[in-house]
Amino acid sequence: MTSFYQLRAGLLRPRIVLFWLVVTFVASCYLPIAHDSAYAQTTPPIRDLTIGTSGQGRPINAVQFGDGPLKLVIVGDTHGGPEFATYNLANELIAHFRANPQEVPANLRLYIIPTLNPDGLALGMRFNANYVDLNRNMNTFLDSCSDNDWSTTVQGAYGLVSDTGGPYPDSEVESRVIRNFLLDASGAIFLHNNAGLVFPAYCEHAPSNLMAQIYAEAANYIYARYWPNYMITGSMADWASAFGITSITPELVSDVDSEFEQNLAGIRAVMAASETLLFPPAGESVAGFELPPEIWRFWKAYGGEAVFGLPLEEAQISPNGARQRFTNVVLELDYSAADTPDLVRPLDLGRKVTAAQEFAPADPASSPLYFEQTGHSLREAFLYYWQRIDGERVLGLPISEEFWTRSADGQMRIVQYFERGALAYYPEFEASGQAVKLEPLGALDLQLDLVQAAWSSHQVR
Ligand SMILES: [Zn+2]
Repeated sequence: MTSFYQLRAGLLRPRIVLFWLVVTFVASCYLPIAHDSAYAQTTPPIRDLTIGTSGQGRPINAVQFGDGPLKLVIVGDTHGGPEFATYNLANELIAHFRANPQEVPANLRLYIIPTLNPDGLALGMRFNANYVDLNRNMNTFLDSCSDNDWSTTVQGAYGLVSDTGGPYPDSEVESRVIRNFLLDASGAIFLHNNAGLVFPAYCEHAPSNLMAQIYAEAANYIYARYWPNYMITGSMADWASAFGITSITPELVSDVDSEFEQNLAGIRAVMAASETLLFPPAGESVAGFELPPEIWRFWKAYGGEAVFGLPLEEAQISPNGARQRFTNVVLELDYSAADTPDLVRPLDLGRKVTAAQEFAPADPASSPLYFEQTGHSLREAFLYYWQRIDGERVLGLPISEEFWTRSADGQMRIVQYFERGALAYYPEFEASGQAVKLEPLGALDLQLDLVQAAWSSHQVR
């Protein structure tokens, strides 16, 4: 092809030069606009967001750089006051990428969370306000290793043994914030101090091993395949790897200095190798049906078959997300709710199924836990179960009190309806601790839909 330079070298005549001057002048009038739009295309956006609230009501914030398809999350301070150096580091990284957002490659969206434990940071302690170690509270029963399974009794700093794993896995609001925020993540870096090494998830996960090696080499820390000092149970990196999230734990050398340059080098090396380290979230086949990635992660993270039952249909995919029916719920994936707790949420099946029913409100004075929003309450076995499964997210608030009715299996049982589902009590399973179960509202709703469809097609004829 004949280039502009060849034209300029030999073929330019005065008239063409004049023409070119005019073109250049006209173009220069529009140049600011043209320049701005080119800038917008090449400079990644920066967004400040609040991703949750701590037990004592402090905001948990994040800053997003770029909007590429792969989500990489850097978690600063998890261990509160004693690890404030990681909080400082995260804030220095945020300042750096605010000034240099173009360093984030186009295939990434990078999130930096200064602290996941603002209460522990404010109170000057390792734990959250409930005295739970947040890096021992995650449900690591979900990965394929058992040595690292969640336990109330844990080894913490310096191997000190204490009952700080929490009353049950994912019991803490801060654990639930990061669990939800990682539902669509490809990679996670959990900053700690002060051992001066970098280690990957405990279960074998090749991309995590590689990420730890790359980070350690660039940051001049020691790579360790395993945390050498004791077994860590219920850790965030181990939880994340169970979902295919490439995850590592860098430990600063110092408990005072942020070691900014070293860690920036580590993060730059990870970003440069992102094509080989990070992968889009993958779906999974369950009971013969394909679960979209985020729906699969939600289903697995929030209790799997025991809570939701199995899928009953293929997912309905739409440009904005997906919707899939399970025995007990219908799960909706909504991309427009990305980075909020509502990315995946159960639909309001409880309200739908009880639309024709009236429930007398509860008496607040005699209710262990009363919700003004719905005028209903929770007590005893249903309250206990609701808290354990993150009931506010999974079932919503109660919209009835407990009452005796014929449950889905035809037996008279105690049942209670919630916005998104229903609970029933099975005394025959008391011994195995499985007495409370969700009612199969997904299956029931499917039957109602089929009956309705049959009825309307009958009427048309
Ligand atoms: Zn730590």
